[in-house]
Amino acid sequence: SNSTAPFVVIGTGLAGYNLVKELRKLAPEQEIIMITADDGRNYSKPMLSTGFGKNKSADELAMGSAADMAAQLNIVIRTHTSVTKIDTANHKVFVGEEPISYSKLVLAWGAEAIRPRMEGDGADRVFSINDLEDYASFRAIVDGKKRVLVMGAGLIGCEFANDMVNGGFEVEVVAPCEHILPTLLPTEAAHAVQEGLEGLGVKFHLGPLVTRINRDGDGVVAQLSNGTNVAADAVVSAIGLRPRLDLAVKAGIQVNHGIVADRLLQTSEPDVYTLGDCAEVEGRVLLYVLPLMASARALAKTLTGTPTEVSYGVMPVTVKTPVVPVVVSPAAPDSAGRWIIEREGADVQAEFRNEAGDLLGYALTGAKVMNKVALNKELPAIMP
Ligand code: FAD
Repeated sequence: SNSTAPFVVIGTGLAGYNLVKELRKLAPEQEIIMITADDGRNYSKPMLSTGFGKNKSADELAMGSAADMAAQLNIVIRTHTSVTKIDTANHKVFVGEEPISYSKLVLAWGAEAIRPRMEGDGADRVFSINDLEDYASFRAIVDGKKRVLVMGAGLIGCEFANDMVNGGFEVEVVAPCEHILPTLLPTEAAHAVQEGLEGLGVKFHLGPLVTRINRDGDGVVAQLSNGTNVAADAVVSAIGLRPRLDLAVKAGIQVNHGIVADRLLQTSEPDVYTLGDCAEVEGRVLLYVLPLMASARALAKTLTGTPTEVSYGVMPVTVKTPVVPVVVSPAAPDSAGRWIIEREGADVQAEFRNEAGDLLGYALTGAKVMNKVALNKELPAIMP
């Protein structure tokens, strides 16, 4: 390994930037190069699904340009630059033909939106909003338009539905699930949130898939598998995210659902580390901000000579559906237990407990979200 070469960080999302901020506290002189496929603007991705209600442009959501960040952090940032190959044996990444040597490499290249498959000549009018540039494009497309079709009723689909209604759009949601937020909420809690959104005018089509999208003037008509047609001016797909793996696979770096890392955030290859949406840490892919913040703090120490395992405490997820607020702390996958649920209108307290009565997870809606503080104290850490 070439120990005089710089640290190279691929990705300038929250994972990349938070890591480099932490690194700078510990190693003011370390040479660092960040490489990003996008424009390198620093922004908080969760704000993308509150921007229509607040009527914020992409420029207003950006907190700093790549040049601002490079100056502030005293680093080099290569923008609009895609890494195309990694050669772990020789400690180099490639941008096309150009090699860039590293002493330590960090993969913080995030997850990509899963593209829905469907027929029809309007498929190219389906957008996903997974970064600031997507958000800017989508805002331009719906400028002056009325009707938005949201595909998917998970966290991101529900947040966009609430936010776009708040922004003055007519919203219909199509998702092939029995109830909204299927992986996060038990039925009663999901119904409370759905009823809240319906009260704002959101129309749900739960069960069917979108099978075809045809152009219709400037807009589209979506055909659903149950025979319903939905006309819309624009379509947002929020059917899921998938960690980016291609480059890692080609480089022989071990992957599973994400890039496989141990608790030092080290991959299968020496001097190659990962964090954020692309990482699978001890079997967990957590597409949230809190885990990547904890990872950034630990990894900065490890990279500067103090090997430090990351630990995840209790990390509840807030679903930004302000009409019916939601806080949920999912139980670890496959944990045995059952839901104990109390519902009064929009207010649901659902506790997931095992035989012994220990709290393993919870879902709170409406006024019950304030009970999170007490419940958090009872919960086990996600990764102690
Ligand atoms: P990203 O921000 O995706 O960054 C990836 C970076 O890698 C980008 O700079 C990209 O250009 C670069 N890149 C990719 N491939 C290459 C390549 N080959 N070469 C060079 N560069 C490359 N989480 C929460 O905890 N709370 C919330 O309320 C919340 N709300 C959300 C709302 C929305 C609409 C979305 C989409 C997500 C939300 N999340 C939320 C999730 C959270 O935003 C993400 O977990 C987090 O932003 C991921 O950061 P990241 O740096 O890992 O990835």
